[in-house]
Amino acid sequence: MTARAVRGPFDYARPDGVDVGSVVEVPFGRQRLRAVVTGLTDASEHRLKAPIRVLDVRIAPELVRLALWMADDVVSTRARCLELLLPPEGGERRRLWAERVGEPADRIARTTGVRLTANQRALLDRLPDWTGPDTAALRRLEARGLVRIEERTRPRRPDPPAVGPTADGPLPLNPDQAAAVDRLAAAPDGSRILLHGVTGSGKTEVYLQAARRVLDAGHAVLVLVPEIALTPQTVARFRRRLGETVAVLHSGLSRGERRDEWWRLHRGDARVCVGPMSAVFAPVRDLGLVIVDEEHDPAFKHDGDPRYDARRVAAWRATADGATLLVGSATPRPESWAALERVSLPRRADGRDLPPVELVDMRRTRTVLHPDVHRALVDARKAIVLLNRRGWATSLECADCGHAWECPNCDVSLVLHGGRRDPATADGDVPSGFTPLAPGGTLRCHHCGHRERPPTTCPECRSVSIGHHGLGTAQLAEQLPGHVFRLDADVTDRAGVLDRFGRAEEGILVGTQMIAKGHDFPDVGVGVVVDADATLRFPDFRGQERTFQLVAQLAGRAGRGGDRRAVGRVLVQTRAPSERALRHAAEHDAEGFLAGELERRAALGYPPYSTLVRVTCEHEDERRVDRTAMDLRLQLPRDALGPAAIFRRQGRYRRTLELRGPQRRATVDAVRRAVDAIVGRPEHRGVVLAIEVDPR
Ligand code: ADP
Ligand code: ZN
Ligand code: ZN
Repeated sequence: MTARAVRGPFDYARPDGVDVGSVVEVPFGRQRLRAVVTGLTDASEHRLKAPIRVLDVRIAPELVRLALWMADDVVSTRARCLELLLPPEGGERRRLWAERVGEPADRIARTTGVRLTANQRALLDRLPDWTGPDTAALRRLEARGLVRIEERTRPRRPDPPAVGPTADGPLPLNPDQAAAVDRLAAAPDGSRILLHGVTGSGKTEVYLQAARRVLDAGHAVLVLVPEIALTPQTVARFRRRLGETVAVLHSGLSRGERRDEWWRLHRGDARVCVGPMSAVFAPVRDLGLVIVDEEHDPAFKHDGDPRYDARRVAAWRATADGATLLVGSATPRPESWAALERVSLPRRADGRDLPPVELVDMRRTRTVLHPDVHRALVDARKAIVLLNRRGWATSLECADCGHAWECPNCDVSLVLHGGRRDPATADGDVPSGFTPLAPGGTLRCHHCGHRERPPTTCPECRSVSIGHHGLGTAQLAEQLPGHVFRLDADVTDRAGVLDRFGRAEEGILVGTQMIAKGHDFPDVGVGVVVDADATLRFPDFRGQERTFQLVAQLAGRAGRGGDRRAVGRVLVQTRAPSERALRHAAEHDAEGFLAGELERRAALGYPPYSTLVRVTCEHEDERRVDRTAMDLRLQLPRDALGPAAIFRRQGRYRRTLELRGPQRRATVDAVRRAVDAIVGRPEHRGVVLAIEVDPR
């Protein structure tokens, strides 16, 4: 309940010129805080203080409305939601700008008799430009009346802006793309369209041409992508095609860059914003088109407070501005499939077929890789191998008494990083079961960062027979034939790894699901899913959906583009080859999968036919958290589920409760009322409550 303290709104006296959306600095208790004006009133029952100062920026009133709506929609506070709209802090950068006065350098000597050195002539020829290390030399020319120097604001831009001679023009569209672009052009204001295009079908070209039309008609464009680091190609293509009007907003920018990009959008100097989830709050006005690329990606859901879904916020913004909402994916969510108008790109832009997907039955196999899969990897020039577990081995266990090594703060297994292989096992023969532990490495908790040294003896029975189970990406990487590029959350330079793999003549890219995201490797011959059952086992109604997406997305990475030597082929290892998600993925049948999935969801009353709201209670004291959870249960409608214990994290016990209902509004309101009823009671003090609508 700590996070729910600042409620507001709070009344202050109104300085001149202040209106809804104005940003002011106000005294608040002992602090000075930035605040946004959300409404005006003629009377107040409080004794009013005046703001300390009025900042030189005004948030668009419709964005203020967005924040207020969102606070309600995801049960957060207005303050948290408004904060997302504030300009990044920091000042602008001023630099010296030099311009030539009068004649070009080669004529000066003739017309004025002034003699210039070669160096000075070169300097003059470069103008107009920012003054660099040569300011002193330019000042001397200024003194002779040849140059004018003044201080100007110089925006900091992320990456070298890719414009000028490298800018590329529109591609001639194929008939499917042309039909899609025409449909978009003809769509009435406020249309909501799903662009269902197989991977490699050229969705980006449709986005670009639709965006160009909207810009030419005088409107702005918002483009959301799942994660900038993993989709640099999409961002680069927008920059190259549309030029300086494109602003990029993401957390990888320096503070100065972020600030300047924000202001370019706010002032209208940039009319296209490309960015991840948080860019949905960009200060772009008069949107004509809102694009969500790879709309199935869970990265659009924010993990902390406010727990918003950028796809839902994007839809709100499109409606508010009468813009077209365009969401694209090869593997759309059932929610979008059911609700949106569909436009499809059923073929790859390069005219090639999608690679065959083969299900490899692992029920009789003892090694991690099926012999056929191993052979395919040896034969392939380039391959992608997906395994959804990072680290070296996922758990340790005592062979004699079964003792398992868990995190002291969280109820989860410690993961071995930097482990070493027992030399007794043969090369290429990756073990899938229990293996004796060789010394070395670190045990790490993936939830709280706890680290310890791997044991040599069991604390329970003194046995020295300790072994490891479950293989992670790091160990798999050691076992694969050929040069390996590894990509997972333990790797810091992810864009660099992707880039090096992209350029390599041969090699294997191994990693977690992030390798199956939007990048384009034209010459990948083989894609492998090591353990397709991992996502099927998710204790979540989205298990099938995730599995289908993962396999289909990986299939999209293999055998793309122009290299016909690369015969694309996808091998999916599973112990459940008759699972619906896998069968449809093997047939490239998204429609069939989605139709079946929607039927199943309807029968079970799962989203999109209901809304799920989850409350998590957290505290170090188990009795206290139990008490809060039980009290909350009493306040919730009778059909709520829980409380259920979920694993302890960072030393805090956790309980969840869940309410499902056919009406979103009513379900959310019921949970809000229940939480409000217990908040503030002394017996629940310190218990953290997190409410999540449509939980992941
Ligand atoms: P998607 O986003 O649908 O997976 P992309 O937009 O990345 O697909 O396009 C895949 C490839 O096809 C890219 O290399 C792109 O340049 C190319 N492409 C797209 N449209 C055309 C077209 N009309 N003519 C030629 N190449 C195209
Ligand atoms: Zn033991
Ligand atoms: Zn831990």
